[in-house]
Amino acid sequence: MSAAATPGRPRVGVLAVQGAFAEHAEAVAAAGGDPAEVRTARDLLGLDGIVLPGGESTTLGIVAGGSGLLDALRAAIGGGMPALGTCAGMIMLASATTGGPQPLVGGMDIVVRRNAFGRQPRSFEAEVAVPALGPEPVDAIFIRAPWIERAGPGVEVLASHAGHGVAARQGNLVVTAFHPELSGERRFHELLVARARARREAAAGAAEERGERVRAQ
Ligand code: GLN
Repeated sequence: MSAAATPGRPRVGVLAVQGAFAEHAEAVAAAGGDPAEVRTARDLLGLDGIVLPGGESTTLGIVAGGSGLLDALRAAIGGGMPALGTCAGMIMLASATTGGPQPLVGGMDIVVRRNAFGRQPRSFEAEVAVPALGPEPVDAIFIRAPWIERAGPGVEVLASHAGHGVAARQGNLVVTAFHPELSGERRFHELLVARARARREAAAGAAEERGERVRAQ
């Protein structure tokens, strides 16, 4: 029997450059993934998925841009690595913000407005319906949160609050404007881990096939 037949828990990185990452690592583990902190481009090697947590997107962009991590993230995500971006992480995965240029990873066809809920209390909690996750609403904690200002035709908006998109999915990417990791919500991390597992199994299958071809030669 080959090792490829038992791929194990998918390895899911949590960007740990800036912002809150411990709760995400816990959520990844609870969802069945094997979490790993990501600080450098090298840390991305061997990962099956990644979480981009909240924090401050400008700081994140500057720090990760200077170290080459931003380019490595673009390459990994552009190459199909599944990713979950929450709050500042959602901003990082957007193609643009309404507020002018800042370094982003990109990948999702959305334009986001930073600190969009400005006139409401800057942080608040709300029950948000996310039909794609089932009938139970999400206990959503918004902290200086962005919203989705525009979404391209390939984007599935998963949830809205106050008339604006606050969660979405496109291909290998899922984003939330709120912080699921702070309310014990696990379903977004489960989506990510499921995707990461599928990617890991596909890679293991391809490696096994290559091995068989080599052995057959
Ligand atoms: N306001 C932050 C930004 O614009 C995001 C806040 C958060 O991640 N909690 O980057």
